[in-house]
Amino acid sequence: MGNDKTSAELFQRASAVVPGGVNSPVRAFGAVGGTPPFMASGSGPYLTDVDGNTYVDLVCSWGPLILGHAHPAVVEALAEAAAKGTSFGAPTPGEVELAEEIIARTAVEQVRLVNSGTEATMSAIRLARGATGRGRIVKFAGNYHGHVDSLLAAAGSGVATFAVPDTPGVTRAGAADTIVLPYNDIEAVERVFAESGPDIACVIVEACPANMGVVPPRDGFNARLKELTAAHGALLILDEVLTGFRVSRSGWYGLEGVAADLVTFGKVMGGGLPAAAFGGRADLMAHLTPGGAVYQAGTLSGNPLATAAGLATLRNATDDVYARIDAVSAQVADAVERELSAVGVPHRVQRGGNLFTVFFTDAEVTDFDGARAQNTARFAAFFHAMLEQGVYLPPAAFEAWFFSAAHDDAAIDRVISALPRAARAAA
Ligand code: PLP
Repeated sequence: MGNDKTSAELFQRASAVVPGGVNSPVRAFGAVGGTPPFMASGSGPYLTDVDGNTYVDLVCSWGPLILGHAHPAVVEALAEAAAKGTSFGAPTPGEVELAEEIIARTAVEQVRLVNSGTEATMSAIRLARGATGRGRIVKFAGNYHGHVDSLLAAAGSGVATFAVPDTPGVTRAGAADTIVLPYNDIEAVERVFAESGPDIACVIVEACPANMGVVPPRDGFNARLKELTAAHGALLILDEVLTGFRVSRSGWYGLEGVAADLVTFGKVMGGGLPAAAFGGRADLMAHLTPGGAVYQAGTLSGNPLATAAGLATLRNATDDVYARIDAVSAQVADAVERELSAVGVPHRVQRGGNLFTVFFTDAEVTDFDGARAQNTARFAAFFHAMLEQGVYLPPAAFEAWFFSAAHDDAAIDRVISALPRAARAAA
């Protein structure tokens, strides 16, 4: 298809010059076996690889692309911005507009733009420590907040996939102030605050965890975290990097309404370009430099191409867009349940807003141990059967499936008609 390089050749070349042949581990298919297709282009709900195969894309760049690939409004905004110059290292109107757009949709009063979700959570943690004058942080097993040293303890996503509970390269000191608790266990949080309350700067939690697979918070869990942190003079950081502007126009906050002290955003707000943010109460954000003492910076932060793509995405994310994503996600989740039940494969389809994961296990999954108890070999067989039929799922069992408003009936029909064979492969 107009390209003489095959995925197999490219992966071989890549493996010589890039560790593992990929620039982010889960892309390597290590969890499911085989070698990854190299993508040449995307259009609406479809990806086309360099070998000429077309897939319905249920990864959507791991979340950002709620309008689908190469949406005309995003492409046009990018072309217009690029023609004016790619980076100035000085303030630009787009940064103000993107900050205003985020604030209008959420409970945060101010935001600082950064380049990745990792930077957002790293900076929010530093700010929480700087503002409270305390050192210890609480996170939950199976929650992933990017590859921040202090947060790579019992993290989900690629870390779960590769069963590396902690990583070499993070010193004992780097993680010593991180307290890791079982997810959804409010009594464990109460105990820790009773014991160490005055030392705890913050609790960081995924608003609805989706990096150990989708494991929604129990009713009242996030609200109780807010109460406990407030009662002990600590801060609550809700990580909405994945859920923000995807599960509703206001993210998980739009579904649950718990306003955190600090919130992290990423993915959708960059429309497929590197943009992320952290924000929160104005009195807390005032601790940042300049003006405050907590240092935080970035050469490309608020980059004009990234803000253009993010603004075009958010401005085109109408109620109809969310209604479509909700509808197609529910339709496919129902079909997955039906087909796996038909062949008697143990499974749980767990939903959090319009995100869902198929766990190959009988039991409800409420925490990381439950997620890890699933049968990942069944997932690998299911994954490859879907891929062979032209459906590109996240290549790991501990991930959510992502949809866009561009997933039309033809794309969804292709997904649903591929399910019976994939269910049989998983049996
Ligand atoms: N927080 C959450 C909840 C995420 O899902 C991710 C990435 O998947 C991150 C933080 C890190 O974001 P990034 O990969 O942009 O550094």
